[in-house]
Amino acid sequence: MSRLEAVFLGTGGSMPTTGRNHPSIVIKYQGWNLMFDAGEDVQRQFERAKLGTNKRMAIYITHRHPDHLLGLGGLLLRFSLLGRTKPLSVYGPSELIEYVRMAQDSINLGTTFDTTVYAVEPGTVSEIENVRVTAFEVDHRGHALGYKVVYQKPTGPFLPERAIELDIPKGSIWRKLAAGESVVLDNGRAVNPEDVTGPQPPPLSVVYSGDTRPCDALLEASKEADLLICEAMYTSDNADLAEERGHMTAKAAAEIARDCKVKLLALTHYSPRYGDGTAIIDEARKVFPDVMLARDLMRITLSSDGTHSIEMPDAQTT
Ligand SMILES: [Zn+2]
Ligand SMILES: [Zn+2]
Repeated sequence: MSRLEAVFLGTGGSMPTTGRNHPSIVIKYQGWNLMFDAGEDVQRQFERAKLGTNKRMAIYITHRHPDHLLGLGGLLLRFSLLGRTKPLSVYGPSELIEYVRMAQDSINLGTTFDTTVYAVEPGTVSEIENVRVTAFEVDHRGHALGYKVVYQKPTGPFLPERAIELDIPKGSIWRKLAAGESVVLDNGRAVNPEDVTGPQPPPLSVVYSGDTRPCDALLEASKEADLLICEAMYTSDNADLAEERGHMTAKAAAEIARDCKVKLLALTHYSPRYGDGTAIIDEARKVFPDVMLARDLMRITLSSDGTHSIEMPDAQTT
């Protein structure tokens, strides 16, 4: 079975408030941390969530607005102070390269590990150990991206008893087959992964809207997603503000989830004017029942058997 976990480090929109930090989400799988956006003070949320300083990691930034980006320098600094050695790739709109270079030059932000910033175009951004991340252009103010994460294991579980039955020698050959590679044995016999593995689990997909008005690219990406993490800056009484400022209402986010048949919708990045977000979630629930309000340090685990579980943070850790 495949499993991935979405950890919400920050769920605030525009201004951080008590208990709601600037946007950042980490997708955890197979020992990897894939971070999406790095809002202000993400370094402390990262620590609170115990995500590990020297894990394999990549960072994806949606756009160059400060609430999505200001925490990047602090996070890199913290990693350096704590002696991170593993390289780190940062992906985002082309303007991000200049921003990181400027931060490195002007405040002497060196890192103890290789940091490479890549300019992202719509399409495939990275393929890392069974996870493909794609970007799509959204409709915000200026150049802005959303991201889709698809986790697909190449095979089902390895079945050692089948391998023994088929006289396949243990060791590297077993590992190759378990990783989805075909092999040819010394006696010339070819073995395919499906001969010694269970059924391939279905893919798991998570879509993150970033900041956007409702748009076709988000609709396209969200089709039948297991989890859609969508901004919901306003309620419908402020639909004019949403349109003007390039954001979404809770109703519009719920309509996308309904039309795309997503399994679970998590609303994030709502305006501080809505306090605890009751008005946001109430509006969305009228359109789409499988919706929840994201909270800082909340975790959602998705499993390829179609189930999910949600872990809420302790009150004192937020
Ligand atoms: Zn923005
Ligand atoms: Zn924003």
